[in-house]
Amino acid sequence: MLEPSPTDEVDDLVLLGRHPNPQRLRKLLHTAVDTALDHLEGAETPSSSARPLLPHTPPTPEEALESFGREWLGQAVWYHHPRYLAHLNCPVSALGVAADIMATIANTAVESFDQAGVAAEAEVNVLRTLGQLVGWNDASGTFTSGGSQSNLQALAIVRQASPRKDILITANTHYSVSRAAALFGLRTHLVPTDAFGRMDPQAARELIATLEDSPAAIIATAGTTDRGSIDDLEALADLAEDHRAHLHVDAAYGGALLCNAETSGALRGIERAASVTLDMHKGFFQPVPCSALVVPDPQTLAAIRINASYLNPAESERPNLADNSLQTTRRFDAAKIFLSLSTYGAEAIGSAFARCMSHAGAIAEAIERHPTLELYETPQLSTVIFRPRGVSSDELEQLKMSLFDAGDAVVATTTVAEERWLKFTILDPYLTLDEVSPVLDRIAALANTKELSYL
Ligand SMILES: *Cc1c(COP(=O)(O)O)cnc(C)c1O
Repeated sequence: MLEPSPTDEVDDLVLLGRHPNPQRLRKLLHTAVDTALDHLEGAETPSSSARPLLPHTPPTPEEALESFGREWLGQAVWYHHPRYLAHLNCPVSALGVAADIMATIANTAVESFDQAGVAAEAEVNVLRTLGQLVGWNDASGTFTSGGSQSNLQALAIVRQASPRKDILITANTHYSVSRAAALFGLRTHLVPTDAFGRMDPQAARELIATLEDSPAAIIATAGTTDRGSIDDLEALADLAEDHRAHLHVDAAYGGALLCNAETSGALRGIERAASVTLDMHKGFFQPVPCSALVVPDPQTLAAIRINASYLNPAESERPNLADNSLQTTRRFDAAKIFLSLSTYGAEAIGSAFARCMSHAGAIAEAIERHPTLELYETPQLSTVIFRPRGVSSDELEQLKMSLFDAGDAVVATTTVAEERWLKFTILDPYLTLDEVSPVLDRIAALANTKELSYL
C-alpha cells in the first residue's frame, strides 16, 4: 500500500527537492515566473470586469499554470499599473520578489533557530536596523502579516503589561486598533482631532482628566490611511510620559518617512514610543506580507511570551523567534527588506517614497486647476482626496465601479468630514502627471455627462 506510484501525475504533486526529474520541476517554476511576468508586462488595464475562477478538469501542470495565469492574472488588479490609484498597494521591488521566491522555495519557517538558522539572525538584524531608523540603538520586535497584526500585538502587550484598560484613539485611527481593543477588553476613547485630522493633544489631556485612572495607552498615528495625517508625536509622548501610558505609534503608512533625513523630521518624537508599527509592504515597496512591530526595549515583548519546551525553551541561547510573535509557523518575510536595505539602503527607499508624495502634490494642483473637480485638501502624505462637483454619494460609488469594470482606472472612495469623496493613493515613484491627467478627465467627463452606465 505504501508503494510509491510510478506515474508522473503523483510525482508532480510532490515535492521540491524530492522530485525524480528536477529539470522538469525547474522548468515548471520558470514557467510560473514567466507566465506571471508576461501578464504583468502585458497588463493594458489596471483591472477588468472579473469573471469567477472555476475548477479545471485535470490538466498537466504546464497547462494548469497557463490557464490559471490566463483566468487569474489575465483579469487581476495590477498595482504597478499607472491607472491603479486606489489603495496602499505598491509596485514591488524586484529584489524583494526574488527574495520572496527564494524564501518560498526554501519554505523557511523562522519560529525556532533549529528551523531557521541564519534566517532568524537576519530577522533580528533587520529589526535592529528598522529600530535605528526610528532612533533606537538596540531595538527588537517581530515581523507580522501586516499593520493590523502589528497593532494587535501592540495592544496585546498593553493589555498584559498593565491592569489599566483605557486607551486613547481618534476617529482616524486604523480600525484594526478598535478591533484589537475589543478583543482584549480595552476601552477606547475618541479624542477630538484638529483641522488636519490629527489627535488634539490638549483635548487628549482634558479627556484623561475625566477618566478614573490614567490611560493604559495612547495610540498615535504617523500617517492616517485616508488623509495621511501625522499626529504631534512629541506632544503625545509628553502626555504618555506624564501618565506612564504606553505610547504606540502606528506608522504603517508614514513609516517610510524615517528612511530619509529630509523627511524623518515629520515624525519627530517617534523615538519616545514604546512600540511602532511599520508596513514595509506599503511605502517600502516590498511584496505582501512585510510588516513589523518594533520596540526599543526587548523586554516589552516578554509581556506575551510563552515558552514551549519543544520550540523555544526559556534557557535557549539562540534566537527562537516564537519568543516574540503571536504566530508560530511564520514566513521569512524579513528576507525581502533585508536585501533591499542592504543593497540599496534606506535612503533610496525614502527618496522613492518622497517622490510619491510630490506626485500627489502635483496631482492635487492639477485638480485645483480643473474646472469641474474639487480638491479636499493639500495632500499631507501621498493621498489625494477629491471629487467632481455636484455628484451624490451614490453616483460616486457608481463612478468608481464603472471605472473599474471598464479597466479605465482603479480609484477608492471614502468618507472624510462626513461626506463621500474619491481617493487616490499614490505609491508609484515612477508615476507621471501625463498618466494621471486622462483619469481626471475621464472622471470629470463621467460625472458631467452622467454617462454612469447603470444609474
Ligand atoms: C494599512 C494600515 C494598517 C493596516 O495594515 P495591514 O498591513 O493592511 O494590515 C494599519 N494602520 C494604518 C495607519 C494603515 O494605513
